Amino acid sequence: DRLISGQADPGEDRQDRAIRPARLQDYVGQPTVSEQMEIFVGAARGRREALDHVLIFGPPGLGKTTLANIIANEMGSAIKATSGPVLEKAGDLAALLTNLEEGDILFIDEIHRLSAVVEEVLYPAMEDYQLDIVIGEGPAARSIKLDLPAFTLVGATTRAGLLTSPLRDRFGIVQRLEFYSTDDLTRIVTRSAELQGIQVQAEGAREIARRSRGTPRIANRLLRRVRDFAEVRSDGSVSAEVADQALNMLKVDYEGFDHMDRRLLLALIEKFGGGPVGVESLSAAISEERGTIEDVLEPFLIQQGFMMRTPRGRMATTHAYLHFGFDTPDAGGE
Ligand code: ADP
Repeated sequence: DRLISGQADPGEDRQDRAIRPARLQDYVGQPTVSEQMEIFVGAARGRREALDHVLIFGPPGLGKTTLANIIANEMGSAIKATSGPVLEKAGDLAALLTNLEEGDILFIDEIHRLSAVVEEVLYPAMEDYQLDIVIGEGPAARSIKLDLPAFTLVGATTRAGLLTSPLRDRFGIVQRLEFYSTDDLTRIVTRSAELQGIQVQAEGAREIARRSRGTPRIANRLLRRVRDFAEVRSDGSVSAEVADQALNMLKVDYEGFDHMDRRLLLALIEKFGGGPVGVESLSAAISEERGTIEDVLEPFLIQQGFMMRTPRGRMATTHAYLHFGFDTPDAGGE
C-alpha cells in the first residue's frame, strides 16, 4: 500500500499500458544501456541471429520489464513472459521452452527466485539450445534430449548478487539500470501527461519528478494522484504549487521520502546511534523484511547519500542527521 514503492500495484499495469514506451527511442534516460542495446540488437538483426541472452538488474520500477519488451519489439520477435516463482517444476520451464519459436524472447522476471532444479534445465538451454530432462521415476526413468530453437533469454532481477554464478555467467549481455535524474523523470512525467491528456506545467512536472525517488513507476503513479488533487482542489492543471500541495497531503516529503524511509533512517540514528548496525537488527527494529530494506528502501537512500553500507553494517550519514534536524555526531557519523 505504499504510495512510493517501486513495485507495481495490482491494476496498475492496465493504466500503464498506454504510457509504457515500446521502442528504444522512447526509452528515456539510461544512455549507456540504450546505446549498447541499439548496437547489440542492430548487429544481431544484421546477422539474422538470435540476440545473446540479456540480464537486466536494478531496483523495482526502473524499467526492466519495459526494456525486455522493447528488445522484443526492436528485434521484431515475440515475447513470452514468466517469473521465477511461477516456474515451480522443471516441467514448467520445459513446457515454455518447447513452445518457443526461432528468435523468440523468453522473459523471466525475478530470475533469482528460480529453484535449483529449474535452473539446471536452463543451463543447457541457454548454452546449446538443448533441453535435457528426465521423465519418469525409478527404473523407468529416462533422460530425453531435445533441440530447441535459437531463442533469447531476458532475465530481470533487483540485484545481480542474488544470482548463482553459473547462471550469471551464461548471460552474454548484462545491463544495470540506474536511478533516473530529475531531468529524465521530468521528461517521463511530461510524456505520460501528454499521452493521458493531463495538463501539466513544466514546473509541475519537475516537482513530481524531484519527489519520485529516481523511479519512473513512482513518477507515473504520483502524476495520477496529483492529477486527482488538481481536478478536485484546483482547475485540473498541475502547477508546481498544486503538485507541492498534493504531495505534501500524500505525505511524500521534498526528498521523496515517505514514512518508511523516515522510520528506517530515524531508527538508524535514534536507536543505533547512527550505526554501524547489521541489516537484521535494523529489520527487527522497524518490523520490515530484510529483503524489502535491501531491495526497495536502501538502494535509493544510499544513492542519495543518506546512508552507507559498510563491512560492519549500515550507517547514517551527516546528510541524514541534517535532514531530520539533528546535530551531527562528533565522530563516526560519516
Ligand atoms: P520494472 O520491471 O523494473 O519493475 P517496469 O519496466 O515495469 O519496471 O517500469 C515501470 C513503468 O515505468 C513502466 O510501465 C513505464 O511506464 C515506466 N518506465 C520505465 N522505464 C522507463 C523509461 N526509460 N522511459 C519511460 N518510461 C519508463
